[in-house]
Order: sequence, then structure tokens, then C-alpha cells
Amino acid sequence: MRCPWPLASILAKIIAVTPPVAPFDRSAVHFDDRGLVTAVIEHAQTGEVLMVGWMNEESLARTVDAGVVWFWSRSRARLWQKGESSGHVLAVRKIFLDCDGDTLLVKAQPAGPTCHTGSRSCFGTPGGGMLDALEATVAQRAALPPGAHSYVRRLFDEGPEKIAAKLREEATELGAELASGAPGRVVSEAADLLFHLMVALGSRGVPVADVLGELDRRFGTSGLDEKAARTKK
Ligand SMILES: [Zn+2]
Repeated sequence: MRCPWPLASILAKIIAVTPPVAPFDRSAVHFDDRGLVTAVIEHAQTGEVLMVGWMNEESLARTVDAGVVWFWSRSRARLWQKGESSGHVLAVRKIFLDCDGDTLLVKAQPAGPTCHTGSRSCFGTPGGGMLDALEATVAQRAALPPGAHSYVRRLFDEGPEKIAAKLREEATELGAELASGAPGRVVSEAADLLFHLMVALGSRGVPVADVLGELDRRFGTSGLDEKAARTKK
């Protein structure tokens, strides 16, 4: 049976209700003479800048209370909820105010591409950190035809066993350098390991944002407590 609800809208609802926005002091915000403040929206896990918009007091209040981003549109002179037509809402995780109180940094979880062009970010893709760029490169190489002149494509051709073996080999090499190698060797082997980890994640279709999200979830929990909670399951 076909599901009558679009998946994106269900996901948006789940993302929008959990977890709540961290406490934020609205009274410290300095709105300009038009009653506006700049809001920079950043991906909660990857730190990628997704878009920049304007908020007035009402849109900020709605953003904090509803836990999804609301802007003030200067061109249409009205409040608008990001994703109100596309379903690609931005679920707010944390809000920070800059040092002089006139710019907001909103860490949010996007329910889909943020830009109306279909790009993940209004500043193009990939606009995030090195791991995002690596993920995009791995995906691009994986889309090449089998046998194409590409190291990543060759690993994909050789299959999951070979990719897993390569990951173990790189981890072993890093381990050896950690014991006695020069700092430059440790850096080089750590880079090899991270690169092959990105290939391995790509081969399973696991987004790096999910891995970073899991780290974010654990952040602030003692590693020993986190481990104990896992073994009880
Ligand atoms: Zn855009």
C-alpha cells in the first residue's frame, strides 16, 4: 500500500518536535532601526552555512517557540516560515547571539535542501567542511562507470570486503606510527584513515552528517557513562 503522506513532510514533523531548542535570552537582541536582525543559519552537525536571512521580533519569537526557523521577508513584507511551501523546514537546535547583539547564529537541522535551487546550501554545494567535500567527491567517483580511472571507483569495484580490509590496514598503519613515528607520519596516516573511512561510509550510503549527529548527541556525556549505557541495551 502506498503511503498517503509525503516522506519529507513526515520527516519534517519528526525533526521539528525533537529535541527542543536550547534556552536563549531574547531580551539581549539588538534589532536595527527597521526592527530587524541578521540570522545566519548553520547545519547543526556539519557547521555548513546554509543561508542568511532577516528576523524581526515576531519571527524570532516564533522561531524560539515553535522550534523551526521563521524569517521576515523584506521584499514581501511578511513573516514566512522557511519550508512553508517546500516542506524543507529548519528545525532549530541552538541559537547564539554575537558579541554586539546584532547577529544571530542559528544551528538547525534541515529537512531537505535549504536553497530554492535544490542546493543543500544557498552558498553552493559542498559548502561545509573537509568531510563534506570528501563525501561529495566519493559520491561523484562512485557514480562513474565501473572500471573508470579513479582510485575510489576501483575500491567500489573491488567490493565491501576489500574496502573493509583497506580500512583495517590504514588503522593498523596509523597505530604503528602513533607508537614511534614522527608527527608528520601520524598526520599522513590519520589522513589516509579518514579518507578510507569516508569511502567506507559512502559505500554503505551512510551520510557523514549522521555520524557527526551521533557525536553531537554524545557531546557532554561522559565517555564512560555513554559506553555503560550502550552495553546495557
Ligand atoms: Zn538559496
